[in-house]
This record gives sequence, structure tokens and C-alpha cells, in this order.
Amino acid sequence: MTHIPGIVITGASGRMGQMLIKTISDSDQARLVGVVERTGHDWIGRDVGEAMGGPALGVAVTDDPLEAFAQAQAVIDFTAPEATLEFAALAAQARCVHVIGTTGMTEEQIAALEPASRHAVIVRAGNMSLGVNLLVQLTKKVAAALDEDFDIEVIEGHHHHKVDAPSGTALMLGEAAAEGRGVKLSDVADRGRDGITGARKRGDIGFHAIRGGDIVGEHDVLFAAPGERIVLRHLATDRAIFARGALKAALWGQGKAPGQYDMVDVLGL
Ligand code: NAD
Repeated sequence: MTHIPGIVITGASGRMGQMLIKTISDSDQARLVGVVERTGHDWIGRDVGEAMGGPALGVAVTDDPLEAFAQAQAVIDFTAPEATLEFAALAAQARCVHVIGTTGMTEEQIAALEPASRHAVIVRAGNMSLGVNLLVQLTKKVAAALDEDFDIEVIEGHHHHKVDAPSGTALMLGEAAAEGRGVKLSDVADRGRDGITGARKRGDIGFHAIRGGDIVGEHDVLFAAPGERIVLRHLATDRAIFARGALKAALWGQGKAPGQYDMVDVLGL
């Protein structure tokens, strides 16, 4: 048994799943010990490297998460909210660090992670990149420094397959802006205006989602006042930034006390 942590990737065939498998396989800080897909998926039972169209990696795709988690020290999970809730219970049972990149979880689903986090480390973030987590801190600072003469709008763009809006990252940025202003996001959020909406309400935080092509992820936080505008922008051009952040989180979580953490903890921002 080596001290290098063993990692399981869920959602193996997904855009992020495949990027995570490449990142872990190329890393000398972690070992790929399991990959999980949905029951009935045509990758089940195949070597994951070959299923991805490359050389064999010596790891077969399974639809039995608990068996896979039992071999591992961490699970990296970029799938879908219902699947993530199921994996949280199983990862806690196996005492694995559970890194959650899945977005689009409801308040109830997030609250339902609490029992698992009493037994294991959960690191959850709507965006695992260093750049976006810095942008979150900057957004909080700028929002705290400006008054409500500055209208705040969060504008995000993603590829046409994305199923949730606004993006998890846009919501993180909106939360940061609200926190900086000392208000509750749910009291001021104005999502996707359409029709005769009336004039913009002072203090609102607006959200707008662009969907198209292969956009990996683009986020602007606009602070617009009469006579001047500030735009904070992050452009992701490669999913590898999310995979590298998730691996960092899986390694950081080793030996930490059970509980819920985010990338601000991992990156020490
Ligand atoms: P995708 O649709 O390409 O992949 C999702 C994968 O999950 C699919 O392979 C699907 O089969 C699998 N899956 C679904 N239910 C499952 C189950 N019960 N068991 C096993 N596998 C299951 O999507 P994607 O673009 O890879 O994104 C996945 C999630 O990650 C989305 O919520 C997305 O918003 C989020 N995301 C987060 C970050 C971040 O930094 N936090 C970055 C990119 C994407």
C-alpha cells in the first residue's frame, strides 16, 4: 500500500469525468483506483483508457460506487445533483474525501449533504479554478467598497449542453457581491429578465445566461454607475483548470476533520 491517495472518478464518460481521468493518470501525486458510470452505460466493464479512445489504464468502469469507494481515499464527483447525494452517503460510509463539482443543487439537496459531512470531508465548489475563486474574493471587496449607485449584473456564458442556469459560478459571484453589500442574495436576485419588467430596482443583483457552442465558461461581474463601469472578468478556455483544482482539493482534504469546505479553504484565500 502506497501513501499516494487512491482516487475514484464518478461520471467517467462526461466532459469533466474524462478530463479528471486524464489529470489523475498524468499526476504523480494520486492514483486512479476506480471509475464509476450509470448502470446500463455502455462503458460498464470496459477499461476506461480504451473506452476514452486511448491506451489501457488498467481500471475497469463500474456501476457499483461503494465497491469502488472502498478502495479509495477520495472521490471526485462532477455528475448530477441526485447522483451526488447518493455518492455523498457512500463516500462517508467509505470515509473518503468527497470533492463535489456538481452544480445545480437545490437548497434542500445542499442541506441533505449535512449527515455525510459529519463523518467525512466534503469539499464543494461551483467552480474549482484558482482564477474564479480569486474573482469571488475581488467581487466581495469591490461590492463592499461601492454603494448602490453601482448596479451589479453577473453575466455568464457556457456551451450548449449545460443544463442549469445561472451557472454555479455565477451564483458564487452573486453570493460574494451580496455578502460584500451586507444583503441576502435571495432578497435581491433578479434572474433572466424578460418582457415588461419595469425599471431596474436599486440594489438588485441581475443574472444573465448565454448558451452556445463549446464555450467552457465565461463570467463577467459588472458594476455600472452613471458615468462609469467596472467589469471583473474570468475566461476559462480549458476544463483542465477545474480538474487540477479538484485534484488539489482531494489531496488537501486528506487527514482534515470531517465537515464541509470550499475552494477558498483549499486555496487559503
Ligand atoms: P456531462 O453531462 O458531460 O457529464 C456528467 C456525467 O455524469 C455523465 O457521464 C453521466 O453519465 C454521469 N452520471 C449522471 N448520473 C450518474 C450516476 N447516477 N452515476 C454515475 N454517473 C452518473 O457534464 P459535465 O460538463 O462533465 O459537468 C458535470 C457537472 O459538473 C455539471 O453539474 C457541471 O455544471 C459541473 N461543472 C463544475 C465545474 C466546477 O469547477 N465546479 C466545472 C465544470 C463543470
